[in-house]
Amino acid sequence: MNTEVLLQPAIDADTKAAEKKAEHEINKLSKRLHRQVGQAVTDYNMIEDGDKVMVCVSGGKDSYALLDILINMKQRAPIKFDIVAVNLDQKQPGFPEDVLPTYLKSRGVDFHIETQDTYSIVKRLIPEGKTTCSLCSRLRRGILYRVAGELGATKIALGHHRDDIVTTLFLNMFFGSRMKGMPPKLVSDDGKNVVIRPLAYVREPDLVRWAEHREFPIIPCNLCGSQENLQRVQVKAMINDWDRRFPGRVENVFTAMGSIVPSHMMDKKLFPFETIKASGAPVEDGDIAFDEDEACGTPAEASPSVIRLHPNE
Ligand code: SF4
Repeated sequence: MNTEVLLQPAIDADTKAAEKKAEHEINKLSKRLHRQVGQAVTDYNMIEDGDKVMVCVSGGKDSYALLDILINMKQRAPIKFDIVAVNLDQKQPGFPEDVLPTYLKSRGVDFHIETQDTYSIVKRLIPEGKTTCSLCSRLRRGILYRVAGELGATKIALGHHRDDIVTTLFLNMFFGSRMKGMPPKLVSDDGKNVVIRPLAYVREPDLVRWAEHREFPIIPCNLCGSQENLQRVQVKAMINDWDRRFPGRVENVFTAMGSIVPSHMMDKKLFPFETIKASGAPVEDGDIAFDEDEACGTPAEASPSVIRLHPNE
């Protein structure tokens, strides 16, 4: 008897089971993404009744996902808000002009394409070989703020996610000596707009999977020819490595960003160290003198082998 005929039902069953599993996983992912965005929006009061949310869409996976999820949320939200998608065509060589308008029309969402040749300005002003991102971002920011005003947008939504937020924290610590992350909601530096990041709770690998599933027409992000900032690349590699070797660590760092104890840091602007006095009453979060997991101090008669930190010392 033909063995292929005998094996076929088993193969069909395996394929069906795999398809069912994949569908189940996508359903779970969809629920998680919508739940996390809904939670972040609620926790930080990002979108209010009557808002017009300008969603900045670059053609990358994150901003596509942001727009996609907000469109779905708008249909089910108990409040009324409008969405307008905005793309800035910076005239980078090879930018496929029709991709975003075609996609946005297919989603039935209001949109505006702002065409400004920042690419030429950056090329003209920045010497060859120098990094162009900082001027480029400054120009882009100014244009988007202006467009938000012209469109009557009350919020500007950006597609930064949880990994961007943690990466920014470490970038600022490692290279700027500051504990400064990326806020879920903040007034823009020109004081005229409120910037929100509804993907703040979403992990990047989930966005990668969602983009694949939804088949977003991704526009490559290297059209300007600029390399990604090396420091950012290093920090992202560190975070990805932690994710692989120490599951939960990045989540803990992220959670810690929302659970700061100023009295246990060293910033005199955040806590009045100079003027504190003992009141005699117990203080929650007061100093416990030694951390509970700390070893019990200097060994009294430590042998050289105990105090040697390095075998060659
Ligand atoms: S990568 Fe290119 S487009 Fe993006 S900010 Fe840098 S210079 Fe601008």
